[in-house]
Amino acid sequence: MNALDVIRAKRDGNELTDEQIRFFLDGYTAGRIPDEQASALLMAIVFRGLNERELATWTATMIESGERLDLSALTRPTVDKHSTGGVGDKVSLLLCPLVAACGAAVPQLSGRGLGHTGGTLDKLEAIPGWRAHLSNDEALRILADVGAVICAASDTLAPADRKLYALRDVTGTVESIPLIASSIMSKKIAEGTSALVLDVKTGGGAFLPSLDDGRRLARTMVDIGERNGVRTHALITDMEWPLGAAVGNGIEVAESVEVLAGGGPADVVEVTLALAREMVELCGLTADPADVLASGKAMDVWRAMIRAQGGDPDAPLPQANEREVVHASASGTVQHIAARAVGDAAWRLGAGRARKEDPVSPSAGVRLLAKPGDTVCAGQPILEVLTDDAARIPDALAALRDAVVIEDAPFARRPLVHERIAP
Ligand code: URA
Repeated sequence: MNALDVIRAKRDGNELTDEQIRFFLDGYTAGRIPDEQASALLMAIVFRGLNERELATWTATMIESGERLDLSALTRPTVDKHSTGGVGDKVSLLLCPLVAACGAAVPQLSGRGLGHTGGTLDKLEAIPGWRAHLSNDEALRILADVGAVICAASDTLAPADRKLYALRDVTGTVESIPLIASSIMSKKIAEGTSALVLDVKTGGGAFLPSLDDGRRLARTMVDIGERNGVRTHALITDMEWPLGAAVGNGIEVAESVEVLAGGGPADVVEVTLALAREMVELCGLTADPADVLASGKAMDVWRAMIRAQGGDPDAPLPQANEREVVHASASGTVQHIAARAVGDAAWRLGAGRARKEDPVSPSAGVRLLAKPGDTVCAGQPILEVLTDDAARIPDALAALRDAVVIEDAPFARRPLVHERIAP
């Protein structure tokens, strides 16, 4: 067998055999097959797809490329959540302590942001002292003691995906339903959770903006999870507008703490509770997440979780030195704030990275001073950009130029939860 035959077979629209898939993925992970051949196969998959059997073998081979964590010693049921990535999406920060406070153990092995969507680890690293990198033993101890841990996935978890994802990112091969589904699910299955809730984003700020594609991705991932013994549900949630009023690292942590304290933006609370209810139901618990949030118990778990990873939950978060306000261009109702444009602006201000090894700013970001549905007057402040580097502001303002639509017209609110996908 050789790599060229596998590439040609997929290029010509043929099914790959299980042996071909294993030969290729194992060879690439071990360094026997070079990046250029892997890129060619990935591009062929973008155009030709993978059928159900091919996808099952592809995902299983990615899982088997590394270790599988064993969470069986935990006495609580385990459940995790994964989001396909959004703008202002700080929901993981909230769900982890909230669902732990409901009685589950929540192992959140997370990634960093790339492109216009933020990363959970980048956000938490805005907290002075907080450490993302834990040994497996440390993560397990925190899970047993606190019920919640958010940390970086180790290099030994689905290493085939680590290598493939970096390659897809620079070869235009991210946007493929079987490749996204296998990438996400191989990591979640290897993590050892027994239940999983997927937050599949739809709308202009999502990886796959169309609802149809979101639905197909959700269905594909639910099927992979169930076939691998992980009870899996998905919610398709809206990402046309940013979630909440804060888009950036430190400012999203601050907004999450507001929600844990019983306040915060209504859209963040609604999406968090919808996902929390799915997680609680999937692991057979009876607590009502809204009551648990109101009781302050989720805040107690948050504080314990941050402290267990070296962070100080009471330390002030870094503040930006430079800020500039964007004013409303007209009077009327805010009809639209483009999530993608706000994500790009936050990225340009320093909140995101262009390459994996770039540092991110803990204080940069965009604050929404008005939300879709609000009535505003011409000249009123509607957005605020924050950065430590004034030279970044013009580029960020350029990204925001057409981001906000204000019209004197009736307003149609988009649903926050579009659909629920269960087996
Ligand atoms: N997130 C992942 O982990 N993988 C993808 O392919 C896309 C988003």
